[in-house]
Parts: sequence; C-alpha cells; structure tokens
Amino acid sequence: MSWLGGPALIHVRGRDPSRVRLVSGGLHGNEPSGFHAVHALLRDPGSLATDVVFLLGNVEAALLEPHFSHRAVPGGRDMNRVWGGDDPSPLGEVARQALAQLEGLPLEAGVDLHNNTGYNPIYAITIADGAVRRPLARAWTRRLVLYPGTYLGTLLEQIEARAPGVVIECGQAGDPESDLAAERGLRNFLEAGDLESIPEGEPGPPQTFRSLGRVLVRPEVSLGFGARAEAELRVDPGIERWNFVELPAGTLLGRFDGAPPLLLEGGELEVDAVLDQRDGEVRTRVPLVPVMLTTRPDAAKLDCLFYVSERIDEA
Ligand SMILES: [Zn+2]
Repeated sequence: MSWLGGPALIHVRGRDPSRVRLVSGGLHGNEPSGFHAVHALLRDPGSLATDVVFLLGNVEAALLEPHFSHRAVPGGRDMNRVWGGDDPSPLGEVARQALAQLEGLPLEAGVDLHNNTGYNPIYAITIADGAVRRPLARAWTRRLVLYPGTYLGTLLEQIEARAPGVVIECGQAGDPESDLAAERGLRNFLEAGDLESIPEGEPGPPQTFRSLGRVLVRPEVSLGFGARAEAELRVDPGIERWNFVELPAGTLLGRFDGAPPLLLEGGELEVDAVLDQRDGEVRTRVPLVPVMLTTRPDAAKLDCLFYVSERIDEA
C-alpha cells in the first residue's frame, strides 16, 4: 500500500466492459479489511465479470504509525463524510475528483467495505430498501440493516444516486477472519455475470433489520464498563456479544445513579419508546436488536453506545 501514499482510483478491465462495478476500501484508516480485499483483487483479479473501479480511501491515515490505528489523519476530515459535493477540505476535493471520474461510467452497482471497532458479525447496510440490494449484500452476508433517510455526506449516498449500493461491515478490525470474509465476498460480487446470480457468501436464512436510531450517553454522564466501574452509568462489558442478538423486553443493559443517562437520536422515536430507565436500571422496553454496540468508553461517548434496530423480516 505504501507505494501509493494517498487515495487512488484504479480501473481494471473485465469480460464485459459495457458495465462497471465500484469497490471502495479503506475510507477509514483503522479498518484494514477493505484495504486488504482491494489489494488481493489487484494482485489477482481472477475473472472479473465487468470493468471494476477500485477506490483506495484514506491511505494517509492508514499509514500513520502504528499502521491501521487512525480512522482519519489527526485534525483531518472523516473520509466518509466528505462526499456531499461541497466539503472544503482536501479530502472533499479528492471526493469531487473521484466522483468526476465516475461520471459517465456505466455504473451497475457499488460497495463500500468497512470494519467495526467492536465485536459484530459481518453485515450489510442499505439506505434505500429494495430487492436489488439484498443479492448484493448476499455476496458477503445474510444480515441487512436498513438506515432510512441518511444525509451525512457518505460515499454510499453518492453511489445510490447512480446505482444500487451497500456498505459491508466486514467484522471486527484486525481480525484475520474479517479480512478473509471481505475478500471472499468481493470475489463473489465481482465474478458473477449479473447481480441476480451472485453466490451467497454466508449460509442461513436472510435477516433484515431496521435501524431506529442511535443510543447516546448524555454528555455530562460518566460511563464505565463493569459492575465496579467508577462511573454514573455502568454497563456489563459482556454485552458486546449481544450485537445482532434479539433481546427480549426487560433485558438489563446497565445500572445508573441520578437522572436517566441515555438518549435516542437519529430516528422518529423517543428513548422511552425503546428503553426503560427507572430505579437505577436501564432495561429494554420492547424486543430489540443492538448493532455496533461498543465497550470502548471513548467510542461510546464520542459516537454512540449502540444502534437500536428491530427485526423486520417476514417469511
Ligand atoms: Zn468505517
């Protein structure tokens, strides 16, 4: 990777050059699976069904010591928030140039590869419900999470303006299994002649979830993991294993002193619709599925404790 030194777009020919698929890896420098998968495909592309444009993202952040430890360059922008077209930062300019290169290409589909910091199984994200995105996601995973109406300046929003796309969260960063799963799915996606015939990357019935919002810790509340943590809100560190597990109503998530410590943002519901915060205990009020639950206090305070979602698939 170091020979590049910065973001790159690489166009590789496939069997049918009248169609193009986009693959992005490494928009976040601390998420190695996308970098590894793109490099593996560049070294040995196999039989690509269509032309492929590979985007290598925040190489500069990834190369900071120790490698793959920085989401972004300190003081720099998050490279998955600069795609709205008007971001004034240097990465915003990179995004505009990349989109200009894609303009006019017959884009058929796009995927953006990421990792989670916490323990999560591999899953896909779509911001536009629809039958076409399920087979795309299926190249990697049976889990699809719908995020309705996001306007964050992400690459996925720009892909969706042109063609169907998904984000793949390839599992925990730094786990070799995540890198392998990212590459395996990518080959499924890129070798299939058409989007409907993509091989399934994971056995089992498909599962669909709808995100209801992000659970935030109130800024003034201290957060700790473990029953003896010196903090106003104390969460069991074992709950990381509950990502994508359906929790029944009444499940104990944590204990607190003082006022209710959690908020819900980014959805239509109030926090009281999904969580009970009474008598010093936080419990689920309704059956729900946590996604991206993290037990790193810094990440939980900066971003969110977890995304609340509900299982919506029918037979
Ligand atoms: Zn990411």
